[in-house]
Amino acid sequence: MKALQYREIGAAPEVVTVPDPEPGPGQVLLKVTAAGVCHSDIAVMEWPAEGFPYELPLTLGHEGVGTVAALGAGVTGLAEGDAVAVYGPWGCGTCAKCAEGKENYCLRAGDLGILPPGLGAPGSMAEYMLVDDPRHLVPIDGLDPVATVPLTDAGLTPYHAIKRSLPKLVPGSTAVVIGTGGLGHVAIQLLRAMTAARVIALDVSEDKLALARTVGAHEAVLSDAQAAAKVRELTGGLGAQAVFDFVGVEPTVKTAGAVAAVEADVTIVGIGGAGLPVGFGHLPFEVSVSAPYWGSRGELFEVLDLARAGAVSVHTETFSLDEAPLAYERLHAGKINGRAVILPNG
Ligand code: NAD
Ligand code: ZN
Ligand code: ZN
Repeated sequence: MKALQYREIGAAPEVVTVPDPEPGPGQVLLKVTAAGVCHSDIAVMEWPAEGFPYELPLTLGHEGVGTVAALGAGVTGLAEGDAVAVYGPWGCGTCAKCAEGKENYCLRAGDLGILPPGLGAPGSMAEYMLVDDPRHLVPIDGLDPVATVPLTDAGLTPYHAIKRSLPKLVPGSTAVVIGTGGLGHVAIQLLRAMTAARVIALDVSEDKLALARTVGAHEAVLSDAQAAAKVRELTGGLGAQAVFDFVGVEPTVKTAGAVAAVEADVTIVGIGGAGLPVGFGHLPFEVSVSAPYWGSRGELFEVLDLARAGAVSVHTETFSLDEAPLAYERLHAGKINGRAVILPNG
């Protein structure tokens, strides 16, 4: 089969032919319908050789939707042809965090060498992919595969972040979304569907700000050195009760801290690597800063239910598997509005 692989440190990903996978005991083979392109993959492909955490070559793709093509020995509860979304942050399934459905925070994945598809294990940017356990599959039940695939990460990750801050997003509150790309443009819609907060979006390009407005941001502000003052002004000087930074670089975390209200949550989702100092005098009183990772299995069901209710509509741009390297180039250049989705069997 054909697969998109990151093969050599620093090189662009390539479409290559690899052996067809076969499901072992307990595994499920999916024929991949759609695979989402995440900015995290670009970060991975920029990491240096020293300390690089995965084996190469690596088949990319940690957002996947497909149909069940074959069941490994002992797998029950699924049938060939079922349309399913992949829950990506695989855990062991038996530790205390996994028991709560929080496989993203599995206590044993590290020790057991369990890695997510596309981030260590072979991913979804291939004609077929192996899923290690049927519990990592959620039926999409009539949802469109292309519109649904980004929800497994670009939906689930902001959903988890926003859900934690719901008690603070009461009527009259303000939420700030920094970076309105794949994750951010879904975050705006989730905030509108789940809260009465006023949503202020920040990005660096007019195209992205236009998309932010289209998907429901009340205000869209250019992300520059004046952005924090603008947000303060828009909130009568008080700042925002929740700030979600989908970039995570020095200037954006600085802005995030500068627009936080007293007792606000600042959530750094972007993996740009910048930190925000916490300590007396650094931030308004009682601001909480956190950096979460992905979301729980239960939350993925909730996100798909929100989509079924018509509350989120992901803006997608589709590419064939042969065009997948181009999709990454365009994402790197800031030229994807919404989420790029690869159709490996399209
Ligand atoms: P994306 O490229 O689709 O979106 C990023 C957006 O940020 C773009 O619209 C870009 O124009 C904007 N941006 C860049 N610099 C900016 C600045 N200084 N101010 C404001 N906006 C700016 O990327 P994505 O796939 O949505 O991913 C967003 C981030 O989240 C990435 O860092 C990614 O690695 C990370 N991520 C984290 C998790 C997690 O679990 N923590 C999960 C998925 C993605
Ligand atoms: Zn991702
Ligand atoms: Zn576990």
